[in-house]
Amino acid sequence: MLKQKQFILFLLLIFLCCNTVAALAADLKYTLSMPEPHTHYFQVEVELTGARKNHIDYKMPVWAPGSYLVREFAKNVDSFTATDKAGITLRSEKIDKNTWRVYSNKADAVRVKYNVYAFEMSVRTSFLDAAHGYVNGTSMFMYPDGFQNQSGTLVVQPYKDWKKVSTGLKSTGTYTYTFPNYDVLADSPLEIGNHEVLFFEAGGVPHEVAMYDEGNYEPKRLLADMKKVVEECISLMGELPVDRYVFIVHNLHKGGGGLEHLNSTTLQTSRWNYGTETGYTNFMSLVAHEYFHLWNVKRLRPAPLGPFDYDKENYTRLLWVSEGITSYYDDLITRRAGLMEPQRYLDVVAGSISSVENTPGNKIQSVSESSFDAWIKYYRRNENSNNAEVSYYTKGGVMGQLLNMEIMKSTKGEKSLDDVMRYMYDRYYKKLDRAFTEQEFKEALERAAGKKFDDFFRDYIHGTRTPDYNSYFEAAGLRLVDLNKDVLNLNWGAGTAMENGRMVIKSVSRGSSAWEGGLNVNDEIIAIDGYRVEDDIKPLISGRAIGEKLPVTVSRDGKLLTLEVPIVEDKNVRYRLERVENPTALQQKIYSKWLKLKEV
Ligand SMILES: [Zn+2]
Repeated sequence: MLKQKQFILFLLLIFLCCNTVAALAADLKYTLSMPEPHTHYFQVEVELTGARKNHIDYKMPVWAPGSYLVREFAKNVDSFTATDKAGITLRSEKIDKNTWRVYSNKADAVRVKYNVYAFEMSVRTSFLDAAHGYVNGTSMFMYPDGFQNQSGTLVVQPYKDWKKVSTGLKSTGTYTYTFPNYDVLADSPLEIGNHEVLFFEAGGVPHEVAMYDEGNYEPKRLLADMKKVVEECISLMGELPVDRYVFIVHNLHKGGGGLEHLNSTTLQTSRWNYGTETGYTNFMSLVAHEYFHLWNVKRLRPAPLGPFDYDKENYTRLLWVSEGITSYYDDLITRRAGLMEPQRYLDVVAGSISSVENTPGNKIQSVSESSFDAWIKYYRRNENSNNAEVSYYTKGGVMGQLLNMEIMKSTKGEKSLDDVMRYMYDRYYKKLDRAFTEQEFKEALERAAGKKFDDFFRDYIHGTRTPDYNSYFEAAGLRLVDLNKDVLNLNWGAGTAMENGRMVIKSVSRGSSAWEGGLNVNDEIIAIDGYRVEDDIKPLISGRAIGEKLPVTVSRDGKLLTLEVPIVEDKNVRYRLERVENPTALQQKIYSKWLKLKEV
């Protein structure tokens, strides 16, 4: 026990120590303003106090987490300036494509200002016009290098009479927000304007829905159904790790897609999409997809996906888990929430399998390679992409289906992929607080199924073999039927577009007539078998016999030539999932549990 005098000295010492630490710690404040929204320019000010360094590097991220492409956000930055506390200019220079070095000479406070041109309406970028502003953090906020773990504040100064700011950031006052580190600032998009804000509660947590612009949604029904989807996700994963969640919805003339964030998401949809059953269900699947990411990828994540390196590509071979299995669950959750009829869901599943099997690239690229090369392939498609690539979304979703069926089959319906996702989340996010490896995901699958998945990973994840689908779906009393089986079609394989009255080839599908006959992208099709082509080639090729050679006259780089194009049989599948007659009790049990049906 300390005596009183010693105790006072001790307290004084602690006070002095804390004060020294406080004086050394930095303070970081961002201010975002938009005084002339019609010019599409945001103004950003970053004030760093207490750093006292010889120089500070300010870096603009090159990519947005969740969208695996280097987008070079620095290209939209101009008018960068730096001053000290007294407003005296500090020398600065660009030292590479996305880094501005400020020679701060141990100044206590450094204030950096720059403008960002924001006129790309997508969930991954920022946008500003006379109607509203949208900010996706990585395309707006630079970070002082070395201060990524620094907490700070963001002050938003909305344009004139704009009254609303919707964001997942924690509010501490009017248009004032805090963030614990740069990752959270960058991962919390903002919608600024006079949009409609709706609310619902789910899992005991408030959910805010910021609706930019009109749409033919009926608010009451929309919120009730979003709540069903959200509750289904929470029940699947066992808990909700946020105390507030924000949906930013952009209702646009044309648009689709979403981007996941830590405790919010941005969704884009066509504004009249809510009026049809398909459009409405697709929107709910999008809600389910981005909300499920709240666990899968934002918290349960493969090794390179957090903490992020904002300076370059972050490679992973596991996007088929992070995106593919999320795609598997988006429709399934919509089904389980009662917003999609069972047969409609089965049609969606069969459609995904057909799509994978009809993509020639599925035999060239594995889903693991597709994940790794997202940066240079999936996000940078060209006319040959279908011939050389497979989507880690679609194929990853199909892999999720098969893994789920295999686990349900080998445990007689006791366990499913749901248990694996919960286990992975509990173990790697909650208990170990770290990213997971492919081996660890495979072991979790094996743990649930009580069997090895070596062959599955070798053949379907790292390989390009075609699974025997029916051996998987049989577990749920389902049969995959190819409706094209007895139909004889020809596989022409040249995708075309009309340009100034000319029919121009835009893609050539591997193994098709066009491919075998040497037709090229950019060829203009002039005539087939001596007949002039107008705007439809179907009448000129239909009814031709398989193996027949057809003279096709094209203009290639201004020269006329005639090629002998063989008619090739169409091997594309058109799958439908059907229930078997008289399913066993176990098949019925698995089917009902999978789709969450009360009775069969
Ligand atoms: Zn996704």
